[in-house]
Formats: sequence, structure tokens, C-alpha cells
Amino acid sequence: MDCIFCKIINQEIPCFKIYEDDFVLSFLDINPVAPGHTLIIPKKHFENIFECEEEYLSKIISVAQKISQKIKKQGIGEGVNLYQANGAIAEQVVPHFHLHLIPRNPGDNINFTGQGMKPISKPTQENFKNMKNKLSLK
Ligand code: AMP
Ligand code: ZN
Repeated sequence: MDCIFCKIINQEIPCFKIYEDDFVLSFLDINPVAPGHTLIIPKKHFENIFECEEEYLSKIISVAQKISQKIKKQGIGEGVNLYQANGAIAEQVVPHFHLHLIPRNPGDNINFTGQGMKPISKPTQENFKNMKNKLSLK
């Protein structure tokens, strides 16, 4: 299947992995809107929340809690937004269900209305590796 996130699951495309189990994969967003911007995806292809099986959704939200706690504990975000888009009208770009975890800090100027989410300047490989080390659950 020609799905970029399925290719990441199948290790055809690399990622900065944060967590993986039988149901869920989590990795750093390649175009973060904040340092530590993380995605959590089901390891089975579902396009969006209209299709995603409940078992996968509940695993995803459990992992979201653990990574959010780590984001806070590691001082990467004072708070965290969970964001999830379904369908083109909702500005979903990658058609494989994904939950965004977006670390929030004072003065970050992230805006979920109007202009939406703008990527920060692209982190270096070294930045991504350091962030992976700080956030990895195992
Ligand atoms: P959405 O607009 O909710 O569909 O978000 C798709 C997200 O996937 C964007 O934030 C992209 O930066 C991210 N993305 C696309 N390709 C990759 C990739 N190869 N590795 C990590 N993140 C990706
Ligand atoms: Zn897929």
C-alpha cells in the first residue's frame, strides 16, 4: 500500500521512534510545530477516526497519556495539546489515523484557529536524536 505511515511501520522509511508495541507506533513529527511534536499511529491501516477500531483507539490514548507525562516531566512542555484531523475538510493530510501531541510553552505562538499550525524551523538530525532520547518510553 502506498501509505507513508504504513511504510514507517514496515521500516521502509526511517523515523525517530518514541514508542512501539503490537498495536501502536509513536515517532517524532518530521515538521514539528513545537520541539517534541510527536505522532501516535495504529499499526494497522485505518484512514481516520471514522474507521479506526476501538481497541486501537484506546491503546493510542493510553500511550498519549504516557508520552504527555514524559513531555511534562522532561521539561519539554509545560502543557500538551492533543490534535487529530479526520478528512480533507478537517485538514487531514496523511490518510492514516494519527494523533498529534504538541508540547506547549509560554510565548510559543501556536494557534489552532486562523492560520493553524505552522512548523518551526526544521530540527537537525542531532536535535531529533536528542529529543528521541528524552521522550522514548523504552
Ligand atoms: P495531518 O495534517 O494531521 O494529516 O498531519 C500529518 C503530519 O504528518 C504532519 O504534521 C507532517 O509533518 C507529518 N509527517 C508527514 N510525513 C512524515 C514522516 N515521514 N515522518 C514524520 N512525520 C511525518
Ligand atoms: Zn497506512
